[in-house]
This record gives sequence, C-alpha cells and structure tokens, in this order.
Amino acid sequence: MPFDVVRVPCFNDNYVWIVRETASGMVAAVDPADPAPVGAALAQRDWRLTHILNTHHHADHVGGNLALKAATGCTIVGPRADEARIPGIDVALADGARWSLGAEEAVVFDVPGHTRGHIAFWFGGARALFCGDTLFLLGCGRLFEGTPAQMWTSLGKLRALPDDTLVYCAHEYTQSNARFARHADPDNAALARRSAEIDAMRARGEATVPAPLGLEKATNPFLRADDPALARAHGFDGRDPVAVFAHLRKAKDGFR
Ligand code: ZN
Ligand code: FE
Repeated sequence: MPFDVVRVPCFNDNYVWIVRETASGMVAAVDPADPAPVGAALAQRDWRLTHILNTHHHADHVGGNLALKAATGCTIVGPRADEARIPGIDVALADGARWSLGAEEAVVFDVPGHTRGHIAFWFGGARALFCGDTLFLLGCGRLFEGTPAQMWTSLGKLRALPDDTLVYCAHEYTQSNARFARHADPDNAALARRSAEIDAMRARGEATVPAPLGLEKATNPFLRADDPALARAHGFDGRDPVAVFAHLRKAKDGFR
C-alpha cells in the first residue's frame, strides 16, 4: 500500500489522521487538534511532518497548526472560503482543486453546512476520504453556519464517491449516532445489524472509524433523505429531500 494512515485520538472523541505517502515519505496531518499527541505519533515512527490539511476552522481541528508548523516548517493547506480563520494557512483550496501528497492525488470538495468554509479531501487512488465534521459514521455535522440545503448538497457530493471509499471522519460519534439512526429508520435491517456491531466494537474499546462509504449509503439516514420509504416514515411523503433532511437534522439536535 503506497499510503499509510495512522489514527491519533485527541481530547475526548477527536481523531487526527496522519497520512504518509510511502514513495516520497511525505507526511500530512489532517485536522491536528492537539500538537502533543500528533508530535508524539510522528516521533515514534521517525516521520517528518510536511503538511497539515485542515477541513475547517474549528479549534478542535486547527488547534495544533501553529505549534506543529513552528516545530516542523510544514505547509498548511485549508479551505479558500475560510482562509482568514485557518491559523498559519499557506495554500487555500476550493471545489475541484487537485492536491498531491507525493504520488497520491486528492480531489478537494467544498462541503459547506457545518461551517461556511469546509472542505473534504478525497484520495481516489488510496480510497480515502477525509471529511472532517461534514459526514460522520451514521451521522453528519451540526449546522452551525450553513443551511440544510447546503449540507444536503455537500453530502450529495460525498455520497457520489465509490462504495469502497473509506470514510475517515474527525470524531468517534458512531455509537450515539447509531441510537438516533435506529430511531429515525427503525425498519432498516442493515442498520440494526451494524448498530449491534458498533456496540460490540465499543464494548471492546475499539475505534469504529474508518468505515466504507457503501455501508454509510445503506445505513446513514442523513445520506438517505431522498429515500421515499424514509420520507414516508417521517410523514414527508413526496416532499423535497431537503425538507426531509432538515427534519432529520433538527430531530437529531433535540434527541437524547
Ligand atoms: Zn467542527
Ligand atoms: Fe470537530
């Protein structure tokens, strides 16, 4: 595999992903929440950080930027739409941009909704999607700065990627997301099976991230707002998927 991915847990439930392209030895940290555990993970492997990839401006994603840049001289890459809020940014990218880590090329998607300027990196050859707080396993990000229509469009861009794409999101929210997903979509047998697997993984203390996008397409209600059966179950028969999505997102915000 030309691409190594290391999971670095930070704070309560953040995951920083360290990616190494083996031919060039280039190393990127995706959304380095906290410099210390990221620095330790790099030192342990004797890897030199060449890049930081930021998906959005939240402190639990950019908190390590300046310290890691000072320590390594790395280049910071982030969303053009939110350039002013990304500490130390050097390279600003927007929808459709191509960005390479050695031999591995990523396509950048603008995916606003959680924040105004949020991007995702899709490394097609490596089958890896780094989507920050836009798509979570069995969930999606809260709408802090965007509208349901924006987020539905953003999720649609990610849903269009191949089923074998691994979704590397930035938080371990899967088990609590599964509780809402089962409530929202109680007749989905694939979801019920997956939810039981997730409970078992968490009971063993295992991370649930990453997971294949194909599984998300079948079980994540926020990717299925245009499924007629799901719309009908929520009393939204024949309505616009954006209305169904907005209803689901709002219900999740109030779900305990
Ligand atoms: Zn966030
Ligand atoms: Fe976050």
